[in-house]
Amino acid sequence: MTAAAYLRDVFGFDGFRPGQEEIVEAVVAGRNTLAIMPTGGGKSLCYQLPALVRDGVTVVISPLIALMRDQVRGLREAGVEAGALTSGNTQEETDAVWQALEEGRLKLLYMAPERLASGGIPQMLRRVGVSLIAVDEAHCVSQWGHDFRPDYLRIGELRRALDVPLAAFTATADAETQVEIVEKLFGSEQPQTFLRGFDRPNIHLAFAVKDQPRKQILNFANARKGQSGIVYCGTRAKTEGLAKALGEAGHLACHYHGGMEADDRREVEARFQREDGLIVVATVAFGMGIDKPDIRWVAHADLPKSIEAYYQEIGRAGRDGAPAETLTLFGPDDIRYRRQQIDEGLAPPERRMADHARLNALLGLCEALDCRRQTLLGYFGEQSEPCGHCDLCDKPADVFDGTTPVRMALSAALRTGESYGAGHLIEILLGSDLDKIRERGHDQLPTFGVGKEYSRREWQAIFRQMMGHDLLRPDPERHGGLRMTERARPILRDEESIRLRRDTIKAAKSGNKIKM
Ligand code: ADP
Ligand code: ZN
Repeated sequence: MTAAAYLRDVFGFDGFRPGQEEIVEAVVAGRNTLAIMPTGGGKSLCYQLPALVRDGVTVVISPLIALMRDQVRGLREAGVEAGALTSGNTQEETDAVWQALEEGRLKLLYMAPERLASGGIPQMLRRVGVSLIAVDEAHCVSQWGHDFRPDYLRIGELRRALDVPLAAFTATADAETQVEIVEKLFGSEQPQTFLRGFDRPNIHLAFAVKDQPRKQILNFANARKGQSGIVYCGTRAKTEGLAKALGEAGHLACHYHGGMEADDRREVEARFQREDGLIVVATVAFGMGIDKPDIRWVAHADLPKSIEAYYQEIGRAGRDGAPAETLTLFGPDDIRYRRQQIDEGLAPPERRMADHARLNALLGLCEALDCRRQTLLGYFGEQSEPCGHCDLCDKPADVFDGTTPVRMALSAALRTGESYGAGHLIEILLGSDLDKIRERGHDQLPTFGVGKEYSRREWQAIFRQMMGHDLLRPDPERHGGLRMTERARPILRDEESIRLRRDTIKAAKSGNKIKM
């Protein structure tokens, strides 16, 4: 199986997080590596996946027993043979782990560093065919740091005894610690080092509510005539239509999707690589393996499926470090479509929940009130200052205190048992005289007709923002009925207020005048 297949089938991810792919490649290739990644960045995958691809056992050393147990459980649930040797084990557990090792069944062996102190471990491990050592929290080897674990100093010895590659991971990025890690773990062998925050400062970030999407994309492309760019679309049909429209507007454009003949696809890839100023209008099938450094812009004609997908797709722009622009369009139909895709997929329930959460994170970014980059990097665990290079830093969002309409909406959801979608709730708020409202007695609710000061489209925008702030979540168990989240409670109780964006509500182009 390929790394990409493991990523999908075992871990349930559609793509790599920033930085993961290069690290996985190096570790699979058996190089000594040191990877520095922010917490939450996805370090564990960088040794778990190579462990599956490589023959033999990977020994994972980690100081965090609870985390080891979690990972072992997670891996077993995914059908991977993993075990742990920690002080918390019963004798039976320990025996079972050794037996699995002896029988050559185990792929990952987690070990607390204290274990290295008991004699004979290197010899025993040598017998069972270890092919890789992975060290989590590698900064624990630093005597000057506050997480120092004396037993980490034995890891170098283990590496020499087993004579296998070692991959070390940490979130601590300061230079001294790095030097110490290299010296203590790798000795004279210099590891390949990966130190990359997630920030791509040369990429300008911008979002816009879909208004006239084709025109919005055309305008964006027109302002960048002659530059290489990618437009991502949600459907194959759309790639063809949009490529044609761009061509008619005088651009050099072609479409690309998974339904095309392999030869045709290769031809587009080659042209894009070779020619300047070509626009490829594509589905997400385009990108893996595209290695063009001077892509000047990436636009999303439809909302990507998750925050990871967004990051990966915009990340194809500006690899050369020169300025690059992005624009992502979104609208209520996108959100519905992406939710539906997740709910109608065949993934098990926990995975669907996780997919919804990743989509929610992207919606939060769409509706961000402050710097986009701060929000995006924050999701990947990286703290940062306002960037000065995104649409919201360029022009702060026009916000207003939206506590009143948000409370109206929450109350409408609650009083109807949290089992209706935005469409129905909006009709209640507007006080619409409809059969479906009267039949259910919803015209008798105190919230009936309290929201007349907003139009239907404005309410849609308010609901979308509420979902972006994770105040309401569609519940797949109730046909997408909107449920209130914990975050919404203090607002409903009037203990917290909430800001909404006026601009994206206005862009909803109502016939009515906006009073807010
Ligand atoms: P770290 O050890 O760097 O703090 P973890 O390995 O615990 O981070 O990963 C953090 C979170 O990111 C986990 O919830 C994990 O499931 C998720 N994650 C890791 N890699 C990916 C990926 N490629 N796509 C989506 N989610 C991922
Ligand atoms: Zn910014």
